[in-house]
Amino acid sequence: MKDWTRVQDRLGKDDFLSSRILLGLDFDGTLSDLVGSPEDAVLTPGTRRLLRALISRPDIRVAVLSGRALEDIKRRVGLRGVYYAGNHGLQIHGPGLEWTHPHVGRLDASIWRQLEEDLKGIPGAVVEPKRLGLAVHYRKVPKRYVRRLADRVRARFMGLRDRYRILRGKKTFDIRSTVPWDKGHALDAIRKRLTGGWKGLFIGDDLTDEEGFRTLGPRALTIRIGQVKTSAAQFVLSHRGQVDRLLESLAARPLLSRG
Ligand SMILES: [Mg+2]
Repeated sequence: MKDWTRVQDRLGKDDFLSSRILLGLDFDGTLSDLVGSPEDAVLTPGTRRLLRALISRPDIRVAVLSGRALEDIKRRVGLRGVYYAGNHGLQIHGPGLEWTHPHVGRLDASIWRQLEEDLKGIPGAVVEPKRLGLAVHYRKVPKRYVRRLADRVRARFMGLRDRYRILRGKKTFDIRSTVPWDKGHALDAIRKRLTGGWKGLFIGDDLTDEEGFRTLGPRALTIRIGQVKTSAAQFVLSHRGQVDRLLESLAARPLLSRG
């Protein structure tokens, strides 16, 4: 539970009740349960129904901000009227918006093929190419191989340090551009496209979301999901199930009269 009551109190304050809300949601571990293989992550019908209810409101906009490739996250959520940010915000598609960060190039396909070759002897390792970056998932890799996997990933990107950095997420090494841009910047960019006053609310569950919490600071309400001791987010909710409850309470709040 942890901050559940405090989050509810915060959302019940006048500034929130009188604002339209841009709701930024991470996907894996926030909207969907974490599963053994990232291929299998899905939205439950219940969460999908809640998102639909939120999208239909004139005073709420929904953005799904994921580390996945843009096309992947669009396909997986598959709802119209949503802003999708892939590659940790480097690409954004949504109503009237189609944008790719101008300083980030496509990751050379030969790099991930070489990496796949490097990881061949490591059972369970999954390389996920994401166009502008890639991820190596090791949820299914036996513990005794993880060190070797980490060493090989590092070795492969050693010579590319000026262009790519390695971030460790949940059972994942995320290889991202060194361009200083995260989900927080993406949410800000979407908010700037909306006319009128919109308040940002960003929910994420992973270490990689911490950058977004820091970027947004007090500009948005930020919530970290999980059993964590410290976070740059303003609030922490311990279980993913509370995200659905939160979506439910947002879907049920009184409509803003001016829409
Ligand atoms: Mg996540």
